[in-house]
Amino acid sequence: MKYIEININCSAERYSGGIIIIPTRHRAALIRDFGKPLTIEEVPTPAPKDAEVLVKVISAGICHSDIHLWAGDYRPVGVPKTLPWILSHEITGVVVAKGDKVPETIKVGDRVLVYPWGFAEEDERTLSGYTQLARKRARLSIDIPGGLQEYLLVQHYRYIVNIDGLEDPQAVAPLACAGLTTYNAVKKIKPYVGPDEHVLVVGLGGLGTYAVQWIRALLPHANLLVADIRDEAIEFVSKLVKIDAAVNPVKEDPVKTITEITKGEGVKAVIDLVGLSQTIGTYLKTLTTLGVYAMVGLMSYEASIPVPHVIRNEIKIFGVYTGSLGDQHEVIKHARKGSINYVKAISKRFRFEEKEVNEAIKSVAEAKHLGRVIVVL
Ligand SMILES: [Zn+2]
Repeated sequence: MKYIEININCSAERYSGGIIIIPTRHRAALIRDFGKPLTIEEVPTPAPKDAEVLVKVISAGICHSDIHLWAGDYRPVGVPKTLPWILSHEITGVVVAKGDKVPETIKVGDRVLVYPWGFAEEDERTLSGYTQLARKRARLSIDIPGGLQEYLLVQHYRYIVNIDGLEDPQAVAPLACAGLTTYNAVKKIKPYVGPDEHVLVVGLGGLGTYAVQWIRALLPHANLLVADIRDEAIEFVSKLVKIDAAVNPVKEDPVKTITEITKGEGVKAVIDLVGLSQTIGTYLKTLTTLGVYAMVGLMSYEASIPVPHVIRNEIKIFGVYTGSLGDQHEVIKHARKGSINYVKAISKRFRFEEKEVNEAIKSVAEAKHLGRVIVVL
């Protein structure tokens, strides 16, 4: 394995002919105790071997799953495996070193997005394209340490997607989870939605900010309805795309209002980014005959459903779990074509300092933020 030496403090454009100095230790934000503030400490910088790639992190998005990990909510299922642990699965960075099996097409200095939903072993699911559903998963921040650190070892070069030329590499990071998951969800509902039919997005947090944009990009002839308990969230997404109608269930009966908006017909597809028993029980009732319900949000473990309505209308309910590596490449191609505004989806950029990193965690935990927040390294 050979390192190319460049000055890591330089931007990618200035790398050529420079010197990379990769420190033997670097700073990482660690969970030492569940639910307690993260501490920034030094950890060893790994050297990439074989197909591995070392990336100097540009930015790290904070997802609601990070909050569950931080709070220890996944401890009953053994996640994370150990403490200390490193959060974040929404990472962009610059390639600074690579193992000897990494092809020449991947170059030191390349700006990349890291696909976080990797696998430890190839199997029939990964070979069918469902990389995110592998039997043995190696998901960033869940099964392997995440990217809230200065250097991230990516376990295989197939997980890096070149983003050179995209105007704002920091803002690209959430396209690895929030952007990817909602893209997969909209692709899944797309075959069921005809022109002038209604699509409803429930929950306008980080994911909702991207979901409404994918609906406008992939289903331009559908009517877009949104539901959220926060008026400011409705206002935030309304600045990104044209919303045909919005419902705030705190102020009105959502089923009655949506029935009125759709002139008694109901909506053809719902993307539920919340996943509480209340949202599932309520918004399933807004679906018309042969409607589809995409479950994305993971806010509860169990929910009850209106059984007669589902059966009598032959409604389909399905889950959406992140997206495949193929989806990830499509998302970046769409970003290059300007299909979505990933820059305005970011509401706040925190610096990689203990105080600010913890503020970022707090803001997502308390749902104070709009859109997505990122930590810039
Ligand atoms: Zn996520």
